[in-house]
Amino acid sequence: MSLTCLGVSVDVNTEFEAVIGLEVHVQLATDSKIFSSARARPESGNSVADEAVNKNTTPVCAGHPGTLPVLNEKAVGYAVRAGLATGCKINLKSIFARKHYFYPDSPKGYQISQYDLPLCEKGFLDIELGDEGEITKRIGITRIHMEEDAGKSLHLHGYSLVNLNRAGVPLIEVVSEPEMRSPLEAGAYLRKLYAIVTAIGVCDGNLQEGNFRCDANVSIRPKGVSAFGTRTEIKNVNSFRFVEKAIEYEVERQRQVILSGGTLVQETRLYDSQKNRTFSMRTKEDAEDYRYFPDPDLPPLVLSPQMVEAIRAALPELPDQKRDRYMRDYFLRRLDAILLSSGSTWGRMFEESVALTGKEQGKILANLMIGEGMRLVSEAESNPDAQNAGFTSKQFADLARAVSDQTVSVTAAKQVLAIAFKEGGEVGAIIDREGLRQVSDLSALEPVIEEIIAKNPKQVEEYRSGKEKVLGFFVGQAMKATQGKANPALLQELVVKKLKG
Ligand code: ADP
Ligand code: MG
Repeated sequence: MSLTCLGVSVDVNTEFEAVIGLEVHVQLATDSKIFSSARARPESGNSVADEAVNKNTTPVCAGHPGTLPVLNEKAVGYAVRAGLATGCKINLKSIFARKHYFYPDSPKGYQISQYDLPLCEKGFLDIELGDEGEITKRIGITRIHMEEDAGKSLHLHGYSLVNLNRAGVPLIEVVSEPEMRSPLEAGAYLRKLYAIVTAIGVCDGNLQEGNFRCDANVSIRPKGVSAFGTRTEIKNVNSFRFVEKAIEYEVERQRQVILSGGTLVQETRLYDSQKNRTFSMRTKEDAEDYRYFPDPDLPPLVLSPQMVEAIRAALPELPDQKRDRYMRDYFLRRLDAILLSSGSTWGRMFEESVALTGKEQGKILANLMIGEGMRLVSEAESNPDAQNAGFTSKQFADLARAVSDQTVSVTAAKQVLAIAFKEGGEVGAIIDREGLRQVSDLSALEPVIEEIIAKNPKQVEEYRSGKEKVLGFFVGQAMKATQGKANPALLQELVVKKLKG
């Protein structure tokens, strides 16, 4: 029996291509909810889990009859800002709609969202691919609409409880065109979107607390075919790495289904990161099942062009601009600049350290962080027994200064970092305690070199007769005699001077 897929015959040797479109829910960093005065996020320093159950609710969040939603102006401003930062057209008139479904944690029986006329449309973002981030691919953003989050059900033995703290938390949903073709591209899209919404300050970016959650729509097709296959939607993955792995798994699963003569069904699947597989949750509703209609409690959202232009004018530096500035001002490699402009913990630490040291240290800081810091952290992550005190921006700033004023060599700086990471502590104190201060003192180095020259007449002869390579021997010996603490540039200079003299 010969198999076909989208009208093309296929077998085990067929090359399939993934088609991926992402829907990302971004929690807006407002203090109050989208339609009520209830707190939208825990008090500062608390986590969502610390917050007493059903503390952050009002009758609006609980869907009591007779209550009315009142739109949060700040949330609208944030949504517009996100739209402008992703090149969207802002609709001066948009409509809130009711999306109906029954969930116990959504007491109204519907979610207020936007449907026909969303706030933002037709944007894009650029992702960077290739070993050096040198390839740019533009991914279309179909729409960004505003909506409210649902509450949370807690299933216990034989009964369930509902926590409405999250019901009504303001979200934007950013929907991409199905233009990504690999898990890698999907990961790059998510990282860039994350970088943007955190850079413009509309999202706290706390992944653990679900501030940024992704639904991945995945289908496959034989390479060269332009039609789309049946897609599945993997719900609510909140780690970039897991999205990539979930898509990778899903692509292979769909390939197997097709090659075994099965039929793919449009469905919602969940990803289990421990088992690294997706499994079916429910068959997917179509839009008509939701019975969308304009919410009669909310008039159309009408914005003035002045308001939109004021938000545009106040947009802060975007990640792409930051990347270019890092390359220009600090001479960073493109890939390093991308990494450090991505809104990651490292990026923030880099910015703080540069602020402490001044931009002359940008390159040294980047090298310390990317070359050494990240390596230490990833080693510790793969080794659960490793102690991990973490780093502070001040440690990096102090160390960058110590490298640039030659207090420590680059080699010694790596030792300092390893200790700072494991045990914490002041960089200066670590340098002193471990005796890592570089010797740049002529009166200390001169006698060492003189002694080595005196002890090795044969090599001196060789050097003087033109064998310049022997220089390395003398420098090496002097390094050894100073336990690696000699300033290498100064040492070399002195050795040459003494040998010639
Ligand atoms: P829904 O709102 O029901 O999930 P949409 O049509 O709005 O459906 O599409 C949601 C997402 O699915 C979008 O990001 C879109 O790019 C993506 N998508 C649509 N068709 C496909 C497909 N065949 N394969 C992969 N992704 C798709
Ligand atoms: Mg969807």
